Parts: sequence; structure tokens; C-alpha cells
Amino acid sequence: FMSNQTLHERRAAAMAQGQGALHPVYVDKARNAEIWDVEGKRFIDLGAGIAVTNTGHNHPKVQAAVQGQVERFSHTCLMVTPYESAVELAEKLTEIAPGSTPKKAMFVTTGAEAVENCVKIARSYTGRSGVIAFKGGFHGRTNLTMGLTGKVKPYKAGFGPFPAEIFHAPYPNAYHGVSVEESLAALDDLFLCDIEPSRVAAIIIEPVQGEGGFYPAPAEFMQALRKRCDEHGILLIADEIQTGFARTGRMFATEYSGVEPDLMTMAKGIAGGFPIAAVVGKAEIMDQPAPGGLGGTYGGSPIGCAAALAVLDVIEEEKLCERALEIGQRMVGRLQQLQARFPARIGDVRNLGSMIAMELVVDGDVNKPDPELTKALITEAASQGLILLSCGIRGNVVRFLPALTISDDLIDESMDILDRCFSAL
Ligand code: PLP
Repeated sequence: FMSNQTLHERRAAAMAQGQGALHPVYVDKARNAEIWDVEGKRFIDLGAGIAVTNTGHNHPKVQAAVQGQVERFSHTCLMVTPYESAVELAEKLTEIAPGSTPKKAMFVTTGAEAVENCVKIARSYTGRSGVIAFKGGFHGRTNLTMGLTGKVKPYKAGFGPFPAEIFHAPYPNAYHGVSVEESLAALDDLFLCDIEPSRVAAIIIEPVQGEGGFYPAPAEFMQALRKRCDEHGILLIADEIQTGFARTGRMFATEYSGVEPDLMTMAKGIAGGFPIAAVVGKAEIMDQPAPGGLGGTYGGSPIGCAAALAVLDVIEEEKLCERALEIGQRMVGRLQQLQARFPARIGDVRNLGSMIAMELVVDGDVNKPDPELTKALITEAASQGLILLSCGIRGNVVRFLPALTISDDLIDESMDILDRCFSAL
């Protein structure tokens, strides 16, 4: 067999470093919340492919749906000769999207494309060009989505110029002392100084900032944004790419605020690892662009549709929203015990369902991030059989995104490993 080391050397010689690998762990097999590498070593996976395998790796139902689809056909192009599964998926997604206004859906392949299409649709509908996004936010790696992204390194540095007419407002963040009032005041200043609201097509927000550090937007902020959007004819876009599909304990995190977005993005957890993404929005808005203006060769692939329909069934049958809350509580309980033992190093433990974060600092000081400790912990965890991810503008947040099908035993085992790693560092 090939060792991880050999594969890593081949990788370094053949692949651009920009598509960096966090762990030199080359996967042989993955099941539910576990991964085995090419050397036969087993890992507990608390990254879930970056919030993608919410139903676990290779859920038997998802696997069977995909296998069945591949036997029938793999690709015809949704824009040429369509198929029932795409229609059924659109019906189901429009049904579960927050709010009661009639909705329509469209399909693409990746999260970034879903964001791009939201902006296209919003510009087409409003006839305006401005878009407001948030500092610290992440929306993808294409040109437009890099422009919307607020986090500079490594996502934007050296890749400009970015599209015009994009503005950034501060995201409210209690942990870092940015209040809802301050964020709203800064948004109002933006309207006064940088772009008149009558020129703004959309405001795009992650209901929980993901790559930026796992900070949930307070409900009153989401409600205030909705109000401002309504006042000025601006569309509200919820980017639910990381937060969707039961991850936060609700199907979509926006539900916590009771706000109905005009457009929303769905990707990642939608299909348990099969590349498909969607824009779902108010029907009148979604229908503005003319036929042929939206989509792409692979958008809404039949394999992605089959997987997504199976994922939706599994989320319902296995009550994964409720389970996301239980998992969050169990893990946070353990992380808080760890924090009590290491108060100087763990500045904060927070979660919304199973979007769980631990902020690492020096001297227990919020303003002294410790990205080195974060890196060291993640490396040590991998060597002890635990896959973790980091996030945060300052690189000092360890994020936990377990499969929502993970067992209590595996959660406890993963927290035991983390405990050992922390003690060792
Ligand atoms: N938006 C959010 C909130 C995300 O978390 C991500 C991916 O991490 C994206 C957009 C981009 O999705 P993709 O990597 O599928 O293009």
C-alpha cells in the first residue's frame, strides 16, 4: 500500500499548494463519524467534510439512492432533458424553507455558485447593483464571492481586483464586544456615506458566521435587517451553506429569528457529500431572470438530487434536528469542564446546536488570540486519532462539526482524546 508520507510527497509534487490539505491523512474508507486512512489508522471525524456529512459518511440510505440513480442515468443536463428527482427536490426545499411566501428553487453545484446566483437574481429583480455583506463573513472563492467575503487571509490576498459595488458592515459579536446597536449604526452610516439604500440590491448574511469563527447573529439583529430591507426595497439573502440541514438544531438557522429571507443558499449538508447546491427564494423574485440566464451544465445533477432526497428523509426519520441539540449539549458540557481546568487557554465555548466552537487565548484574555496553540492542538489531535478543524478571523477557534448521526460513545471518546491532547500541550 501507499503510505500517507508517500502520498503527501506525490501530492506536493503534483498539486498546487493553494488547495492545501490540513491533515496528511489519506482516506481509505469512511463510515458515519469515523475515517480509516491508507495505513489502517482509525480517526473520529469531527469535521464532517466541513459540515457536509450531517447524515454521516456513507449513510446506507444515501448510498443506496445514489447507486440506484447511477444505474438509471448519471447525467442528461437539467437544462436539456430534465428529470423528476429535481422537481421533487425543488418541491421539498421550497416547502421546508423558512416563511410562508410561495417559493421556487434553482440548482447549481457548489456553495459559491449558489451565492453568485442569489446576487444575480437580486440584481435582476431590483435593477440595482449594490450588495452589502459582513466583515468576517465567508461566501466562497469565486471572484464575486471573494468580493463578498470579509476575511482577507488566505481567501482574498493577492486575488484582486474584486467586483465593484460591494460594501461591508460589522457583524454583531457579543464575545468581541460589538453590540447589535453598534452594528446597525454602522450599517446606517454605510447608507449615509458609501451607498444610498436605493442603490442596494441585497444584504447577504450568514445567520451564524462560519469560517469567521462560529458567531450566531442575535435574533434582534436579523429582525432589524429584515425591517431595513423592507423599508428600502432591498432583498435579504441568508447564506445557510454551513448552517443548513439540521446542523444548528433547526432545519435552517434563520428559523431562530423568525425572519423570512427573500433568497437563501443551500449547499454542503444538502446531499451528504454529493456536489449539489440550491438557491431557494420567493417565487416572484426567483422568476425574474429569463430562461437560460441561470444554471449550468452540472447544476442539479441527478446524482446530487437522489442523494439530497435521501438526506431529507434521513433528517426527518432520524430526527436529526433534535439530535443536533443533544450532541451540542453533550459536547459543550465536556468542553466547559475542560475550560474550567484550563481557564487561561480556553477563552470561550459556544454553540448553536451542533455548530460548536472553542476559542483559544493567552492568559484567559479575549484580546489575546492563540492561533499557535490552535494549530498545535489540531495537529496533536490528528496524531491521536481525532480530526478537528479551525476557523476564525484570527485563526484561534477550534470548531466541532460532528455528523448528526454520531453515537454518544464516540462523542465521549472524542472528548477524552481532546482532553489528553490538551493536557499534553
Ligand atoms: N458560504 C458559506 C457560509 C460557506 O461556509 C461556504 C463554504 O465553506 C461557502 C459559502 C462556499 O461554498 P463552496 O465551498 O461549496 O463553494
